[in-house]
Amino acid sequence: MKFGEMSIHQLIDPKGFECECGRTHVIDLKFLRVGSGVIQTVPEAVQTLGCSYPFIVCDENTYEAAGKSVAEILKNAGIKFKLYILPTRKERTRPEEIELGSVAMHFDPKCDLILGVGSGVINDICKIFGYVTNKPSMIVGTAPSMDGYASNSSSMEVNNVKTTIYTQLPSAIILDIDILKNAPMRMLWAGFGDIMAKFLSICEWKISNIVTGEYFCDNVSDIMRTTAKRVIDFAPGIPKRDPEAIQAISEGLVAAGMAMSFAEMSRPASGLEHHFSHMWEMMALERGKPYDLHGIQVGVATLLVCEIYDKLLSFNPNREKAEKFLREFDPKKWEANVVRVFGDTAPEIFAIEKKAGKNDPKNHERRMNNIINRWDEIHDTMVEELPDYRKLYEAMKVCGMPMTPEELDFSVQDVQDAFICSRDMRDRYLMSSMLWDIGELYDFADKFFPV
Ligand SMILES: [Zn+2]
Ligand SMILES: [Zn+2]
Repeated sequence: MKFGEMSIHQLIDPKGFECECGRTHVIDLKFLRVGSGVIQTVPEAVQTLGCSYPFIVCDENTYEAAGKSVAEILKNAGIKFKLYILPTRKERTRPEEIELGSVAMHFDPKCDLILGVGSGVINDICKIFGYVTNKPSMIVGTAPSMDGYASNSSSMEVNNVKTTIYTQLPSAIILDIDILKNAPMRMLWAGFGDIMAKFLSICEWKISNIVTGEYFCDNVSDIMRTTAKRVIDFAPGIPKRDPEAIQAISEGLVAAGMAMSFAEMSRPASGLEHHFSHMWEMMALERGKPYDLHGIQVGVATLLVCEIYDKLLSFNPNREKAEKFLREFDPKKWEANVVRVFGDTAPEIFAIEKKAGKNDPKNHERRMNNIINRWDEIHDTMVEELPDYRKLYEAMKVCGMPMTPEELDFSVQDVQDAFICSRDMRDRYLMSSMLWDIGELYDFADKFFPV
């Protein structure tokens, strides 16, 4: 059976799946409940993991939303626990050193399980904390806002720089729809935005496979394809907090985490649209300004990227122009732009480039030839994988979520910088990398985001 036809409960089969891509995909998730009233299964989850003394971590908001109930349910089940409520220091809990340190300082080493109650930040902190203390972690979700529930990495601010830290997968996930549907509306939008991105991440993953030969699994992609197609139709239910819509988003977010775990990288769930968000967060951190929820930024960027793809559908690369760009590439100019955009982080960007050699003329030429020679395949991939722009636009509109970078307080210059520098951030082949390879990136940037 294809992964896309399987439920998230089938996908956690501990035997794993031998796949056509040559890998065995397996996810070590021992307990999973997504549905109405499933918070009652917390004691069962603790017992399934063979634990008896959980350390509950929540913040002031998530304590009210679910932490209080979790404590009560455990008490009634006769399970001893230690509870720590992170105090609110800023407008919201941040995934940074102080929070993690604060959790560590209140930890009782006799506890045998880290039980997070919350969403993105609490889950990220608990995954790291479980990893460093060598204890299993589990999460009781409070919002369907991001796809990290079933992933093995934490998105943290280290020295004020947004960084992905590979940690551990939670051993149990409990998402009670009765709780999740009451999360702040922005968090529901965020979950929806993060899922809409998957259309693009799959498309881009396949393009990278064509251009660079990067590993690709069609079966894992199928999880995301099916999820995104399913969830987009639930858009009208989101403003009404319709339980079915919230259930679909929640399952979709868990599925995305699984797809990342199966692929052993974030590729199936994150593409250029995510790099826009990473760039924007970095800009905001550097300016000392707050930034919006991950999924909201990703949603806005998904719309931007989808619009560029829409143009690419009727585009043909020009060999002469591509070759001219390759010949005339000026590393000094590139470096100056990196310094301008990345500021203090520029040395890290140069280190990434040094290691990856993306600008190296030989690598560049090979990719350029692949793109031009195999444009038909790239074109077919876009036709197959991309959502209809109009449909995506309407779905986001009906949700009521932000649609433009201005609503997130980013200027056109910020958007253009994020687009151009997205390919420099990491060693990952993006749609913007492809445009650069054929000498079109700067023209596309001027056309779509004219400053
Ligand atoms: Zn596979
Ligand atoms: Zn995401």
